[in-house]
Amino acid sequence: MTTELRGKVAIVTGGTSGIGRDAAVLFAKAGVKVVVAGRREVEGRETIDLIRTGGGDSLFVKTDVSIAADVQALVRKTVEKFGRLDLAFNNAGIEGALIPIAEQSEEDWDRTIDINLKGTWLCLKYEIQQMLKQGGGGAIVNMASVAGLIGSAGFATYCASKHGVMGLTKSAALETARSGIRVNVVCPAVIETPMGERIFGGPEIKPYAIGLHPIGRFGTPTEVAEAVVWMCSDRASFMTGQSLVLDGGFLAGPNPPA
Ligand code: NAD
Repeated sequence: MTTELRGKVAIVTGGTSGIGRDAAVLFAKAGVKVVVAGRREVEGRETIDLIRTGGGDSLFVKTDVSIAADVQALVRKTVEKFGRLDLAFNNAGIEGALIPIAEQSEEDWDRTIDINLKGTWLCLKYEIQQMLKQGGGGAIVNMASVAGLIGSAGFATYCASKHGVMGLTKSAALETARSGIRVNVVCPAVIETPMGERIFGGPEIKPYAIGLHPIGRFGTPTEVAEAVVWMCSDRASFMTGQSLVLDGGFLAGPNPPA
């Protein structure tokens, strides 16, 4: 485990379950003070307990990333508690209704875009403001998906939101590179989380979905968390504006039959 992150302060959004929870715990193991942000208090406190049991320092801030005042308060409370902000993993997201465009409601489009895309933009806005106020320096990782790189029938709104996160990441990286702030994005294929289970856990779809991954299985939240912690560390010091694909071979090409 890298030691250079010790004493840094991170925000992890959507840290109440899945990939965000594993990332929060892994940051804490690396000595990072972690502010866990999410809408669900009980689950948020469970993440905090996991961190404290491992000897880490952490704070839960109830946050809806689609609401500007919440995100602004998240950054303010982070600085009030820990004095600064060095790292952020903007991970919160929803899948929305997975149905064809022709059947989709405007409300579902708005909700998915509000959380996945506007939420990432709001996080970037207030995190970068704080990092600049500190004199620059810092690392941010956004959460996209392989759905940020390819289309998928029935996933149009989710794909649009994640493609948007890719563009936000590159633009933010260009705006902040000279200030020493690195902004990157992670693009996983299917990961074993509550969301992964909701979408691909059914008995019929699961074998098909596993078959899309040449490696022969879904990814684990820890495999994504490991990459995110590395991207936030100085070991990734020349990486900005880039995406890291974690997909078990999903995008490498057609999967030959077993
Ligand atoms: P998850 O459902 O376990 O976690 C999502 C988290 O985001 C939850 O804790 C949820 O409460 C939180 N969240 C949702 N809306 C929020 C809001 N408005 N404000 C604050 N928090 C909110 O699923 P996960 O798989 O861990 O998903 C994490 C991220 O990874 C998502 O952005 C998702 O799109 C992305 N992703 C997941 C997979 C996968 O297969 N699981 C693949 C690629 C990308």
